[in-house]
Amino acid sequence: MADKKDYYDVLGVSRDASDAEIKSAFRKLAKKYHPDLNKDDPSAAEKFKEAQEAYEVLSDEQKRSQYDRFGHAGVNNGAAGMGGMGGFSNFGGGFDSVDLGDIFDNFFGGAFGGFGGGRSSSRKARGSDVLKRVNLSFDEAVFGCEKEFELDFVEDCSECHGKGGIGEETCSTCHGSGTITSEQHTILGSFLSKITCPDCHGTGHTYKKKCTECNGKGKVKVHKTIKVNIPAGMDTGKRLRISGKGNPGANGGENGDLYLEFYVEEHDYYERDGDDIYLEIPLTITEAVLGCKKTIPTIHGNVSLNIPAGTNNLDKQRIKGKGIKNESTGNIGNMYLIFKVIVPKKLSRDQKKLFEQLDETSFEEKEIKEFNKFTEKN
Ligand SMILES: [Zn+2]
Ligand SMILES: [Zn+2]
Repeated sequence: MADKKDYYDVLGVSRDASDAEIKSAFRKLAKKYHPDLNKDDPSAAEKFKEAQEAYEVLSDEQKRSQYDRFGHAGVNNGAAGMGGMGGFSNFGGGFDSVDLGDIFDNFFGGAFGGFGGGRSSSRKARGSDVLKRVNLSFDEAVFGCEKEFELDFVEDCSECHGKGGIGEETCSTCHGSGTITSEQHTILGSFLSKITCPDCHGTGHTYKKKCTECNGKGKVKVHKTIKVNIPAGMDTGKRLRISGKGNPGANGGENGDLYLEFYVEEHDYYERDGDDIYLEIPLTITEAVLGCKKTIPTIHGNVSLNIPAGTNNLDKQRIKGKGIKNESTGNIGNMYLIFKVIVPKKLSRDQKKLFEQLDETSFEEKEIKEFNKFTEKN
């Protein structure tokens, strides 16, 4: 690595060469030193490797700018050589480049072990997933809803149907097979290997014309409003996967997924616990003592309920099947009423008199009698 050649010199292009010039220079060198065509020159493999490395850097916008600024140090992280390049991989650049990863693997995977790490930015890779937080009202979560989201994502170009070109024809380099067989001579012996065709990237066909809509990438960035049906029963922390609406993949890899993560707002009266709903019912002391009939608002409509005489503060009553339908199991939860006896703070003179009369009758409740005994002992 001490006297590494300048990448521009390796490809024989100027420092301001266009992407097309770089690609064309690499193609020429790759054909010149391709083991199929150059079986006599013992340094062919080494030269091919050099050209590969130079092309890998100069064909990638980000790596090229790193190289322009910092030289070899900018794109080679230490002794691993090309292995260090992984750190610079990004989306963009790799789209229309030759699938170098495959060429690397097949040509140099065995003989030049140190280069194993070179499979980098041009390899097909799925995009990462995206998580989006979504607020839902209590009703939206319980009953489901339709929501619209404005999203930026990458989709197949409609002009060329994701192919990147128009006017499909059989690739003349590989005659449609997508691979080229090559014989490789090394100090360890010769071996045959199949490599991905650099002209059609293994698809077996090329196009008469590059699609101008997507600049040959087959993918276009879009900003779209999408409608999502959010099923009934969503709860805080639950997620919904929207396939293919995440970050774009690299080099023709699929998009990642979009995950909607819900946050459900609290209801003014209902309290939710999973599929169950709790509702506090305030009772006057006479309603609690004498019992009463109440109209209870459930999420499934009003229900008429008899509240028994002698209902205590914080007594609980279950109304079966008036809870929330579970989004995954379909089971319906219950509703629980918690009674809260409201002791009046302000009494009219008449009311006060009535309570005093009532107290003279003395209550015979067990808890009261037991506590009175305890007091008398002390
Ligand atoms: Zn081909
Ligand atoms: Zn297109």
